[in-house]
Amino acid sequence: MDFCDPEAIRSAMRPDTKVVYCETATNPDLKIIDIEMVSRIVHEINPGVMFMVDNTFTSPYLVQPLKLGADIVVHSATKYLNGHGDVIAGAIITKKELIEKIIPCGLKYMTGCAIGPFDSFLITRGLKTLDIRMDRHCANAMKVARFLEGHPAVRRVCYPGLESHPQHELAKREYQHGGFGGIMSFELKCGRERAAEFANGLKLCTLAVSLGDAITLIEHPASMTHNTYTIEALAEIGISESLLRLSVGLEDPDDLIADLKAELDKIEVE
Ligand SMILES: *Cc1c(COP(=O)(O)O)cnc(C)c1O
Repeated sequence: MDFCDPEAIRSAMRPDTKVVYCETATNPDLKIIDIEMVSRIVHEINPGVMFMVDNTFTSPYLVQPLKLGADIVVHSATKYLNGHGDVIAGAIITKKELIEKIIPCGLKYMTGCAIGPFDSFLITRGLKTLDIRMDRHCANAMKVARFLEGHPAVRRVCYPGLESHPQHELAKREYQHGGFGGIMSFELKCGRERAAEFANGLKLCTLAVSLGDAITLIEHPASMTHNTYTIEALAEIGISESLLRLSVGLEDPDDLIADLKAELDKIEVE
Protein backbone atom coordinates (compact mmCIF):
# COMPACT_ATOMS: atom_id res chain seq x y z
CA MET A 1 0.00 0.00 0.00
CA ASP A 2 1.16 3.52 -0.81
CA PHE A 3 1.42 5.47 2.45
CA CYS A 4 1.84 8.69 0.47
CA ASP A 5 -1.76 8.37 -0.80
CA PRO A 6 -4.41 9.35 1.79
CA GLU A 7 -7.15 7.53 -0.15
CA ALA A 8 -5.13 4.31 -0.23
CA ILE A 9 -4.75 4.47 3.56
CA ARG A 10 -8.48 5.12 4.08
CA SER A 11 -9.53 2.26 1.84
CA ALA A 12 -7.03 -0.17 3.43
CA MET A 13 -8.49 0.37 6.92
CA ARG A 14 -10.86 -2.43 8.07
CA PRO A 15 -13.24 -2.41 11.05
CA ASP A 16 -10.97 -4.95 12.75
CA THR A 17 -7.63 -3.26 11.89
CA LYS A 18 -5.45 -3.28 15.02
CA VAL A 19 -2.13 -1.91 13.78
CA VAL A 20 -1.00 0.32 10.94
CA TYR A 21 2.69 -0.10 10.24
CA CYS A 22 5.07 1.85 8.03
CA GLU A 23 8.66 3.02 7.83
CA THR A 24 9.75 6.67 8.02
CA ALA A 25 11.28 6.29 4.56
CA THR A 26 10.69 3.40 2.18
CA ASN A 27 13.45 1.03 1.15
CA PRO A 28 15.22 1.37 -1.25
CA ASP A 29 13.32 4.13 -3.09
CA LEU A 30 13.34 6.62 -0.19
CA LYS A 31 9.73 7.78 -0.35
CA ILE A 32 9.15 9.90 2.75
CA ILE A 33 6.05 9.10 4.79
CA ASP A 34 4.15 12.08 6.20
CA ILE A 35 3.76 10.58 9.67
CA GLU A 36 1.53 13.39 10.94
CA MET A 37 -0.82 12.90 7.98
CA VAL A 38 -0.99 9.10 8.34
CA SER A 39 -1.57 9.40 12.10
CA ARG A 40 -4.41 11.88 11.58
CA ILE A 41 -6.15 9.70 8.97
CA VAL A 42 -5.73 6.46 10.92
CA HIS A 43 -6.86 7.88 14.26
CA GLU A 44 -9.80 9.74 12.69
CA ILE A 45 -11.10 6.40 11.41
CA ASN A 46 -10.36 4.54 14.63
CA PRO A 47 -8.62 6.17 17.62
CA GLY A 48 -7.92 2.69 19.04
CA VAL A 49 -5.64 1.62 16.17
CA MET A 50 -1.93 1.46 17.00
CA PHE A 51 0.12 3.41 14.50
CA MET A 52 3.61 1.90 14.51
CA VAL A 53 6.61 3.40 12.71
CA ASP A 54 9.94 1.78 11.92
CA ASN A 55 12.28 4.76 12.30
CA THR A 56 15.54 2.89 11.58
CA PHE A 57 16.48 4.84 8.42
CA THR A 58 16.41 8.28 10.02
CA SER A 59 17.21 7.61 13.70
CA PRO A 60 15.57 9.63 16.48
CA TYR A 61 18.05 12.44 15.84
CA LEU A 62 16.36 13.29 12.54
CA VAL A 63 12.74 12.19 13.01
CA GLN A 64 10.72 11.57 16.16
CA PRO A 65 7.50 9.81 15.12
CA LEU A 66 5.92 9.80 18.63
CA LYS A 67 5.85 13.61 18.48
CA LEU A 68 4.13 13.38 15.09
CA GLY A 69 1.29 11.16 16.30
CA ALA A 70 2.68 7.61 16.14
CA ASP A 71 1.85 5.28 19.05
CA ILE A 72 4.84 2.95 18.84
CA VAL A 73 8.30 3.37 17.32
CA VAL A 74 10.60 0.47 16.48
CA HIS A 75 14.26 0.59 15.58
CA SER A 76 16.80 -1.84 14.33
CA ALA A 77 19.51 -0.80 16.80
CA THR A 78 21.88 -2.74 14.52
CA LYS A 79 22.02 0.39 12.36
CA TYR A 80 22.50 4.04 13.43
CA LEU A 81 21.73 3.63 17.15
CA ASN A 82 24.77 1.41 17.64
CA GLY A 83 26.37 2.88 14.57
CA HIS A 84 29.42 0.65 14.13
CA GLY A 85 28.06 -2.47 12.46
CA ASP A 86 29.05 -4.80 15.28
CA VAL A 87 25.77 -5.59 17.07
CA ILE A 88 22.38 -7.06 16.18
CA ALA A 89 19.64 -5.59 18.36
CA GLY A 90 16.32 -3.78 18.30
CA ALA A 91 14.33 -1.29 20.33
CA ILE A 92 10.65 -0.56 20.95
CA ILE A 93 9.71 2.92 22.16
CA THR A 94 6.24 3.73 23.44
CA LYS A 95 4.40 4.85 26.55
CA LYS A 96 4.97 3.08 29.85
CA GLU A 97 1.55 1.35 30.08
CA LEU A 98 2.02 -0.23 26.68
CA ILE A 99 5.66 -1.25 27.24
CA GLU A 100 4.55 -3.02 30.41
CA LYS A 101 2.19 -5.12 28.27
CA ILE A 102 4.73 -5.72 25.49
CA ILE A 103 7.62 -6.90 27.69
CA PRO A 104 5.95 -9.90 29.36
CA CYS A 105 4.09 -11.21 26.30
CA GLY A 106 5.72 -9.88 23.12
CA LEU A 107 9.35 -9.88 24.10
CA LYS A 108 9.45 -12.97 26.27
CA TYR A 109 7.59 -15.25 23.87
CA MET A 110 8.50 -13.77 20.51
CA THR A 111 12.18 -12.91 20.73
CA GLY A 112 12.92 -15.36 23.50
CA CYS A 113 15.89 -13.76 25.15
CA ALA A 114 17.32 -10.63 26.71
CA ILE A 115 20.07 -8.64 25.03
CA GLY A 116 23.60 -9.58 26.10
CA PRO A 117 25.56 -7.24 28.40
CA PHE A 118 28.37 -6.59 25.91
CA ASP A 119 25.90 -5.77 23.10
CA SER A 120 24.09 -3.41 25.51
CA PHE A 121 27.40 -1.75 26.32
CA LEU A 122 28.23 -1.25 22.65
CA ILE A 123 24.83 0.34 21.98
CA THR A 124 24.96 2.70 24.96
CA ARG A 125 28.48 3.68 23.95
CA GLY A 126 27.43 4.23 20.34
CA LEU A 127 24.46 6.36 21.41
CA LYS A 128 26.79 8.90 23.01
CA THR A 129 27.90 10.01 19.55
CA LEU A 130 24.58 9.61 17.71
CA ASP A 131 24.13 13.34 17.05
CA ILE A 132 27.73 13.86 15.87
CA ARG A 133 27.62 10.78 13.66
CA MET A 134 24.25 11.69 12.16
CA ASP A 135 25.42 15.22 11.30
CA ARG A 136 28.42 13.71 9.50
CA HIS A 137 26.36 10.98 7.76
CA CYS A 138 23.98 13.69 6.51
CA ALA A 139 26.71 16.09 5.36
CA ASN A 140 28.63 13.31 3.60
CA ALA A 141 25.48 11.96 1.96
CA MET A 142 24.53 15.41 0.66
CA LYS A 143 27.96 15.80 -0.98
CA VAL A 144 27.87 12.30 -2.47
CA ALA A 145 24.30 12.78 -3.74
CA ARG A 146 25.24 16.02 -5.50
CA PHE A 147 28.27 14.32 -7.05
CA LEU A 148 26.21 11.34 -8.27
CA GLU A 149 23.51 13.63 -9.67
CA GLY A 150 26.11 15.29 -11.87
CA HIS A 151 27.75 12.12 -13.22
CA PRO A 152 26.85 11.11 -16.82
CA ALA A 153 26.64 7.36 -15.95
CA VAL A 154 23.92 8.01 -13.33
CA ARG A 155 20.32 8.07 -14.53
CA ARG A 156 18.77 9.41 -11.32
CA VAL A 157 19.55 9.87 -7.65
CA CYS A 158 16.93 9.42 -4.98
CA TYR A 159 17.90 11.37 -1.85
CA PRO A 160 15.44 13.45 0.20
CA GLY A 161 18.02 16.25 0.55
CA LEU A 162 18.07 16.93 -3.21
CA GLU A 163 15.65 19.49 -4.67
CA SER A 164 14.87 16.86 -7.34
CA HIS A 165 13.35 14.52 -4.70
CA PRO A 166 9.55 14.72 -5.13
CA GLN A 167 9.09 15.05 -1.36
CA HIS A 168 11.98 17.39 -0.61
CA GLU A 169 9.59 19.93 0.97
CA LEU A 170 8.01 17.27 3.21
CA ALA A 171 11.48 16.05 4.23
CA LYS A 172 12.48 19.62 5.14
CA ARG A 173 9.42 19.80 7.39
CA GLU A 174 9.66 16.33 8.94
CA TYR A 175 13.45 15.99 9.39
CA GLN A 176 15.23 17.97 12.08
CA HIS A 177 18.73 19.48 12.32
CA GLY A 178 18.87 20.36 8.62
CA GLY A 179 19.94 16.86 7.55
CA PHE A 180 18.32 14.25 5.32
CA GLY A 181 19.92 11.01 6.48
CA GLY A 182 22.77 8.90 5.20
CA ILE A 183 20.90 6.65 2.78
CA MET A 184 20.24 7.16 -0.91
CA SER A 185 19.60 5.09 -3.97
CA PHE A 186 20.74 5.73 -7.51
CA GLU A 187 20.16 4.18 -10.89
CA LEU A 188 22.97 3.60 -13.36
CA LYS A 189 22.70 3.89 -17.14
CA CYS A 190 23.53 0.19 -17.61
CA GLY A 191 22.07 -3.27 -17.08
CA ARG A 192 21.76 -5.56 -14.07
CA GLU A 193 25.11 -7.37 -14.41
CA ARG A 194 27.08 -4.20 -15.02
CA ALA A 195 25.46 -2.54 -11.97
CA ALA A 196 26.47 -5.49 -9.78
CA GLU A 197 29.99 -5.36 -11.27
CA PHE A 198 30.17 -1.61 -10.46
CA ALA A 199 29.27 -2.28 -6.81
CA ASN A 200 31.83 -5.09 -6.61
CA GLY A 201 34.54 -2.87 -8.10
CA LEU A 202 34.41 -0.20 -5.39
CA LYS A 203 37.38 -0.19 -3.03
CA LEU A 204 36.29 2.04 -0.13
CA CYS A 205 32.55 1.22 -0.17
CA THR A 206 31.80 -2.26 1.18
CA LEU A 207 29.25 -4.52 -0.48
CA ALA A 208 26.74 -5.40 2.28
CA VAL A 209 22.97 -5.35 2.87
CA SER A 210 23.15 -3.54 6.19
CA LEU A 211 23.16 0.24 6.70
CA GLY A 212 23.86 2.87 9.34
CA ASP A 213 27.44 1.71 9.79
CA ALA A 214 30.46 3.99 10.34
CA ILE A 215 31.79 2.68 7.03
CA THR A 216 30.00 3.16 3.71
CA LEU A 217 27.94 0.17 2.57
CA ILE A 218 26.53 -0.39 -0.89
CA GLU A 219 24.02 -2.98 -2.03
CA HIS A 220 22.30 -4.00 -5.25
CA PRO A 221 18.61 -4.57 -4.39
CA ALA A 222 17.81 -6.59 -7.55
CA SER A 223 20.37 -9.28 -6.65
CA MET A 224 20.52 -8.86 -2.85
CA THR A 225 17.74 -7.51 -0.57
CA HIS A 226 14.99 -7.81 -3.20
CA ASN A 227 16.23 -10.88 -5.10
CA THR A 228 13.03 -12.83 -4.38
CA TYR A 229 11.08 -10.38 -6.59
CA THR A 230 10.62 -11.07 -10.29
CA ILE A 231 11.83 -8.39 -12.72
CA GLU A 232 8.17 -7.45 -13.35
CA ALA A 233 7.44 -7.14 -9.62
CA LEU A 234 10.55 -4.98 -9.19
CA ALA A 235 9.44 -2.72 -12.02
CA GLU A 236 5.98 -2.44 -10.48
CA ILE A 237 7.43 -1.06 -7.24
CA GLY A 238 9.80 1.18 -9.19
CA ILE A 239 13.05 -0.70 -8.58
CA SER A 240 15.21 -0.81 -11.66
CA GLU A 241 17.73 -3.63 -12.09
CA SER A 242 20.56 -1.09 -12.11
CA LEU A 243 19.47 0.55 -8.85
CA LEU A 244 21.99 0.65 -6.01
CA ARG A 245 21.45 1.64 -2.39
CA LEU A 246 24.22 3.49 -0.62
CA SER A 247 24.50 3.95 3.15
CA VAL A 248 27.05 6.74 3.39
CA GLY A 249 29.49 6.34 6.28
CA LEU A 250 31.74 8.68 8.21
CA GLU A 251 34.76 8.65 5.88
CA ASP A 252 36.22 11.73 4.21
CA PRO A 253 33.56 12.51 1.58
CA ASP A 254 36.20 13.31 -1.05
CA ASP A 255 37.62 9.80 -0.66
CA LEU A 256 34.14 8.33 -1.15
CA ILE A 257 33.53 10.47 -4.22
CA ALA A 258 36.92 9.43 -5.67
CA ASP A 259 36.06 5.74 -5.13
CA LEU A 260 32.63 6.12 -6.79
CA LYS A 261 34.02 8.24 -9.63
CA ALA A 262 36.76 5.74 -10.50
CA GLU A 263 34.17 2.98 -11.06
CA LEU A 264 31.49 5.21 -12.62
CA ASP A 265 33.97 6.50 -15.22
CA LYS A 266 34.46 2.89 -16.43
CA ILE A 267 30.77 2.45 -17.33
CA GLU A 268 30.07 2.66 -21.05
CA VAL A 269 26.73 4.44 -21.06
CA GLU A 270 24.20 2.50 -23.17
C1 LIG B 1 17.85 -3.70 9.16
C2 LIG B 1 16.45 -3.28 9.31
C3 LIG B 1 15.55 -4.07 10.04
C4 LIG B 1 15.97 -5.40 10.66
O1 LIG B 1 16.81 -5.20 11.73
P1 LIG B 1 17.91 -6.26 12.24
O2 LIG B 1 18.53 -5.54 13.37
O3 LIG B 1 18.85 -6.49 11.10
O4 LIG B 1 17.16 -7.48 12.63
C5 LIG B 1 14.25 -3.61 10.16
N1 LIG B 1 13.85 -2.44 9.61
C6 LIG B 1 14.68 -1.67 8.91
C7 LIG B 1 14.17 -0.40 8.30
C8 LIG B 1 16.01 -2.04 8.74
O5 LIG B 1 16.85 -1.27 8.02
